[in-house]
Amino acid sequence: MKPDTVILNARLRRDTDASRVSTVNSRPDPRVTSTPVNRHQIAAIALQDGYVAEIVPDGENTTNPWPEASTTIDAGEGFVTEPFVNGHLHLCKVYTLDQLGDAALLDYHGQGMGGAMTAIEAAAAVKKNYSVDGLLPGIRRALRLAVIHGISHIRAFADTDTTAGLAGIDAVMKGRDEFRDRVVVQAVAFPQDGILRDPGADDLVRRALEKGADAVGGIPWIELTDDDAREHVTRMLDLAVEFDRDVSMLVDDAGDAGLRTLETLAIETERRGLHGRVTAQHARAMALYPEPYFRKLLALLKRAGIGVISDPHTGPLHARVRDLRNAGIPVGLGQDDITDAYYPFGRNNMLEVAFLAAHLLWMTSAVEMEALYDMVTIEAARVLGIEQFELAPGNPANLVVHEEGAVRELLAHHKPPLWVLHRGRVVAHAGELVGL
Ligand SMILES: [Zn+2]
Repeated sequence: MKPDTVILNARLRRDTDASRVSTVNSRPDPRVTSTPVNRHQIAAIALQDGYVAEIVPDGENTTNPWPEASTTIDAGEGFVTEPFVNGHLHLCKVYTLDQLGDAALLDYHGQGMGGAMTAIEAAAAVKKNYSVDGLLPGIRRALRLAVIHGISHIRAFADTDTTAGLAGIDAVMKGRDEFRDRVVVQAVAFPQDGILRDPGADDLVRRALEKGADAVGGIPWIELTDDDAREHVTRMLDLAVEFDRDVSMLVDDAGDAGLRTLETLAIETERRGLHGRVTAQHARAMALYPEPYFRKLLALLKRAGIGVISDPHTGPLHARVRDLRNAGIPVGLGQDDITDAYYPFGRNNMLEVAFLAAHLLWMTSAVEMEALYDMVTIEAARVLGIEQFELAPGNPANLVVHEEGAVRELLAHHKPPLWVLHRGRVVAHAGELVGL
């Protein structure tokens, strides 16, 4: 073995098996997950041709086992972990808040999220001016921030409807292609204003898939009747089957205890055998469900293999993250918005998102902070079905090297990682892009 890059004095979050030495060609089972340990192990990591080639526990040995490598990074006993996953970002809308003002934002957050639908209607105005050239500067700015903050995968929604046309998804796919050596952008064709309410939107979603969109979106709760919501779910899932794409649907994102589209999504997912291909986003209304119904919903989600992405900082109601996880349903976090009609802040910094979630969900014990870190890394990857994500021999060398060596410190300061590596290449260093 001749590694090209070596990382020394790396503090690992999980124990590594010294005997599990493998070459770049081996492929560990992606379903196997490591067990977190209290004792954080110091190790040396060798990378070769864009993959993790070997991880060697350091013990007392502080010498470089691979002095011939061309690049050596000394992690100084800072954490070296999997990179971050942003499970939900409206990438076509970033930095559009100033074009709209506060009206939609006040509707979205106000009255226990009772006005969420009104907010979405008001926010649609910005899409009349959509053009690829007009959207790209904001998209590039957001993707540069993603790289700096160590994000390796983004599920990126682009409004695909009769107001936006294909400009939003085209711009997101262009940004995706420009940044493909630095971050994986999964472009979701998303009919933000419904498909029964917005006739023609489903044809545009189809055209976006034909042009190379990576996933099918959906927002069934926005439809005006339960029948229409079911029709929305079934049409979008049928498109996913036809094009063999994953699905990310925004479900029950308002303060209405009567919303039931997550249940519909679970039932129709199972009916089509799409286990592990479908994610539910937001699902805030579950906070208002009667307990017996919520428990039935947990069983349905489990059966359908659906994980949940939550964005607790973008609204006063949250998916029941703790209860979902306790039931064995994986949960990831998302940035959701960056300076748009729904949220005025955001930097594509998943440590910041986790920090905010720690407060909003009251997850502040040591174990819960580890869980939050999982929810922006390995658990989010599980929700999205990203294979070979864990920092392990044989997997792609996507990783971050932090200055700090405790999860509490990482959350408290939410600093950019010292080093960000994508496919074995350094793409950012201490908050600066490398090679762009
Ligand atoms: Zn959203």
